[in-house]
Amino acid sequence: MTEQTTATPSTPTDVWTALKEGNERFATDEALAPNRDTARRQSLTAGQNPVAAVIACSDSRVPVELLLDAGFGDVFVIRNAGGCIDSSVAGSVDFAVQDLGVSLVLFLSHERCGAVGAAIQGVNSAKLPTGLTRVFVEKIAPSVLTAQADGPVDSSEIERTHARVTATHLLDRIPSLRKGIDDGTVGLVGARYRLEDGRVETVYENFGG
Ligand SMILES: [Zn+2]
Repeated sequence: MTEQTTATPSTPTDVWTALKEGNERFATDEALAPNRDTARRQSLTAGQNPVAAVIACSDSRVPVELLLDAGFGDVFVIRNAGGCIDSSVAGSVDFAVQDLGVSLVLFLSHERCGAVGAAIQGVNSAKLPTGLTRVFVEKIAPSVLTAQADGPVDSSEIERTHARVTATHLLDRIPSLRKGIDDGTVGLVGARYRLEDGRVETVYENFGG
């Protein structure tokens, strides 16, 4: 996915390796900002062929293409506050797998996620908030409860658990994703992005087999 590579990665593990390499370039101030010029943009007018679908939080500190050092046409990104999985998100992942043929589905949580923090507060206080915050409690409480099953843990650990729990939830919920993993054509990864050092830490990987 960079001018330096001769071929677009296609296997699930190759795609994940390429995205991790992009993140490392970003984190070390060596980003190549690939695939962002006019020629690349115009080459995509007839269609797209992204290598991965990424579900992430809308948080302005988590710009997916930038932190993976990717460009136009590389990643199919689905974002909302908290990266909550609802029918439109699940449908978008299914579309990416079935119609766009992505080789990887990545769920990305992040450091100091306000939505996860609100869910932690809701669970620990046993008080259901109103408005958007209620959605966070409804969608993220399973991750909080799973993380705290053996006692209190810090928010960082809950964010990691959230990535792992949500990735497996996607697997249970989207038949095309499970089939892709069984067939070896799609990989599934859960990871957490660290604001502090810019790195993505892997907490869950499923490449079938
Ligand atoms: Zn967030």
